[in-house]
Amino acid sequence: MTISASKPGTGQNLLTDTTITLARQTNARIQGLIAQAPDLQARYETARKIIRAFRRPSFYEVSQKCNLWCEGCYYFENDKRQVVGNEMSDDGWDAFFAAEHDRGVSMAYLVGAEPSLYPHRLRAATKNIRYGKIGTNGTVVIPRDISFRIGISVWGNETDDAVLRGARCCARPCGIIPATPAP
Ligand code: SF4
Repeated sequence: MTISASKPGTGQNLLTDTTITLARQTNARIQGLIAQAPDLQARYETARKIIRAFRRPSFYEVSQKCNLWCEGCYYFENDKRQVVGNEMSDDGWDAFFAAEHDRGVSMAYLVGAEPSLYPHRLRAATKNIRYGKIGTNGTVVIPRDISFRIGISVWGNETDDAVLRGARCCARPCGIIPATPAP
């Protein structure tokens, strides 16, 4: 017997009988292991929550601008950094992330060039997507109400940063020198 589930109105199969059989076998094996070692239950539930959060991740380049020009930057390989084209309006970003929510995105990775230059876009993402991470150079303050996690890129130590990035990126996130307020 073939078991399948279809997306309504599309006729597109989401699950095959093989997938369902494997899922059932895996679940039975997990339940067997938990029955032998009940302390695994809590760890299993934590793992399920994490897997659910990463169910549908998506990457977004929300900025075509940056306040730095680092050695080795893959985004700006040449003077194209001075050209910014086809920018969406704030309303456009709101609608875009609302549509991403409807698409079922569970985890947003927001990168740039430099995403912290556009707090409205970051905020639009946090309002629509449950989990997320912002990849930033750490030189611009990200408002506290933008609740995603933050990853800060470093090019080495402070001396290397000054040479390769033209800024003391290591020092700012560590609070050694004040950050620049967001525009
Ligand atoms: S901070 Fe990132 S995007 Fe900006 S110039 Fe450096 S590597 Fe490129």
